[in-house]
Amino acid sequence: MTDTLDIKITKTNKSRLEETDFSHLPFGKVFSDHMFTADYEDGEWKNFQIVPYGDISFSPAISVLHYGQAFFEGLKAYKHDDGKVTVFRPYKNAERFNKSAERLCAPELPEDIFVQSIAALVDLDRDWIPTAAHHSLYIRPFMFSTDPYLGVQPSKTYKYMVLTGPVGAYFSKPLKVKVETKYSRASEGGFGFAKAAGNYAGSLLPAQEAMKEGFDQLIWTDGRDHAFVEELGAANVMFMIDGTLITPSTRDTILKGVTRDSVLTLARKWGIPVEERRVSVAEVIDALKNGKLTEAFGVGTAATIAPIASIGSEGELYHLPDTTKAEFSNRTLKALNEIRYGKVADEFGWNYTV
Ligand SMILES: *Cc1c(COP(=O)(O)O)cnc(C)c1O
Repeated sequence: MTDTLDIKITKTNKSRLEETDFSHLPFGKVFSDHMFTADYEDGEWKNFQIVPYGDISFSPAISVLHYGQAFFEGLKAYKHDDGKVTVFRPYKNAERFNKSAERLCAPELPEDIFVQSIAALVDLDRDWIPTAAHHSLYIRPFMFSTDPYLGVQPSKTYKYMVLTGPVGAYFSKPLKVKVETKYSRASEGGFGFAKAAGNYAGSLLPAQEAMKEGFDQLIWTDGRDHAFVEELGAANVMFMIDGTLITPSTRDTILKGVTRDSVLTLARKWGIPVEERRVSVAEVIDALKNGKLTEAFGVGTAATIAPIASIGSEGELYHLPDTTKAEFSNRTLKALNEIRYGKVADEFGWNYTV
């Protein structure tokens, strides 16, 4: 770590903590008292500040509103029984943030600024971290372009911010998912590997159409032939077929998830065969038909492990075995939680102590 970041802290004079209902925490709607902000100007990052959470004001001409130079990260902080607070693998997110920045022509944010901005903010709002089972503090770092200029070119100024908010479980029940073969999320040579706002904008209509058909989520397939599985909504996807854990290998159309990496690391440690490779829709459907597909689930920070109950493909709906008995995904969720909440030794060094 480099020198501690010089952050100007302005505390709120009216905390909203007391009036917040921690028994009702819809994802992404409840924000902690403070936020972090920094500016990129004249080729450098400056104005590191923590201020009360609140509105920000800009020219309506700022380039992000027109050309979409915006990207983000998502990670979580956990409170252990002894009161210790840790953030899960923040340097992985810092690294990915810069991959997104590079692809979107935005400036690099030094990894230590990313991690220290989060640590300072989480530390200040540590009373906002919920302690109930499966609860945590969701952390949302993001960057956007701020030049008030309508010419199409990379902006010269940017804002980096971090918001946090307490969250509970993301999905309440196993998912009914649809294999999407009309739309695609990302294309070869595009920026599917970046956590770019634009990838989400393009995913809304397909998701809405699937919901109208009664599905909870989409399984994205490759943009060229719609023959290979890529992701599950905004999570990576994994299948247990005949005792082997199979997941699409990462490529420029697939986001390289931190949860994905963590789950694969655990599986390998447990001696479970793991295959990272292209996975065809036909292979998944065949395995469903002949009973070899025992588990399928999404993996991501917000969703953690999201079991799939049924998969719709070409008008047919295929059911998976009872997800409450899904051995691998249940074991993985338990093991990940034990590490995150400090119940077991952090053997991989995944917890960053605030
Ligand atoms: C954020 C995200 C994931 C999951 O990544 P994690 O690092 O595990 O949270 C997967 N796919 C997409 C498209 C995402 O945006």
